[in-house]
Amino acid sequence: MKKNTKISIIGAGYVGAASAFALMMAGLASDIIIVDINKEKAEGEAMDLSHGAAFVKPVEVKAGEYEDTKDSDIVIITAGAAQREGETRLDLVGRNYAIFKSIIPPVVKYSPNSILLVVSNPVDILTYMTYKLSGFPRERVMGSGTVLDTSRLRYMLSTHFEIDARNIHTYIMGEHGDSEIAAWSTTNIAGMDMNEYCSRSGKDCRICIKDEIFENVKNAAYQVIKKKGATYYAVALAIKRIVEAILRDENSILTVSSYLQGEYGIENIYMGVPTIVGASGIKKILEIPLNEEEGEMLKKSADKLKEVLDKGIK
Ligand code: NAD
Repeated sequence: MKKNTKISIIGAGYVGAASAFALMMAGLASDIIIVDINKEKAEGEAMDLSHGAAFVKPVEVKAGEYEDTKDSDIVIITAGAAQREGETRLDLVGRNYAIFKSIIPPVVKYSPNSILLVVSNPVDILTYMTYKLSGFPRERVMGSGTVLDTSRLRYMLSTHFEIDARNIHTYIMGEHGDSEIAAWSTTNIAGMDMNEYCSRSGKDCRICIKDEIFENVKNAAYQVIKKKGATYYAVALAIKRIVEAILRDENSILTVSSYLQGEYGIENIYMGVPTIVGASGIKKILEIPLNEEEGEMLKKSADKLKEVLDKGIK
């Protein structure tokens, strides 16, 4: 890992601030720069975080302007409007595209070699827009995709099976939103597919249980937003996980939002798919063996994103 690592976070709202906290705790960066149109908010967050300096590995956390983000290794974009109760992520596209048009050019100007990690919603659409606005190669533009949704599925299965979430291998793929899919056919626990694990462990694995778990994953953000107004801790941990995979050149497989060019029979779209993530960013998109129904549903998810893109920008 590089000795001095600079990470900039654009957007000091719930997600930006929680991400800065998670990154600080992980000791992954020597410099964290926070930029927000609301300068007071960025300054307040940077001050609050800096006051914990005595308890973590050395890191300088500062609020700044775009010029302070110069030569960042990774720029995380969390700025923009968030979902309100009852809103879908896709409802945010117009508002957030306007914001992105003002953010991406200065980010690119000051950090032309950085990796861009988009988190703002609708994340797949905004990652595509960031790819186009930045002119960066596809390897260096990714979105948080369905990394969080995949963690939600692993967590919910872990409570169902009463085993550690880290021992459950499964993916949520497609749009980070209502058309996402669960890749049940590839779900694996201790080297066994789910049906085998269920019959050996005596756990209930009927389709209705899977459906219920998947619905809870898909609606998790709506439920949290209804109860507390926003989701931010788990996504901050997902961001920390992606950043870690990049900075440590881990070649970890994460369902970041990646640019598809024919994989899964889908092209010219960003969506969450299992991807090898390392120091250069997106190293390779993995085509895992989905069954026919899952493959079709993934294509439908891509069509939904394409529809939004066709209506919005090119
Ligand atoms: P928030 O409203 O708390 O924060 C947004 C911040 O962006 C505010 O501080 C605002 O001042 C700032 N901002 C607005 N316009 C700006 C501009 N032009 N330049 C710089 N900063 C600007 O919202 P939040 O809860 O932190 O959510 C942020 C985004 O993250 C939303 O789009 C939300 O939907 C998304 N989100 C994504 C995931 C995911 O898994 N991808 C999870 C949770 C939230």
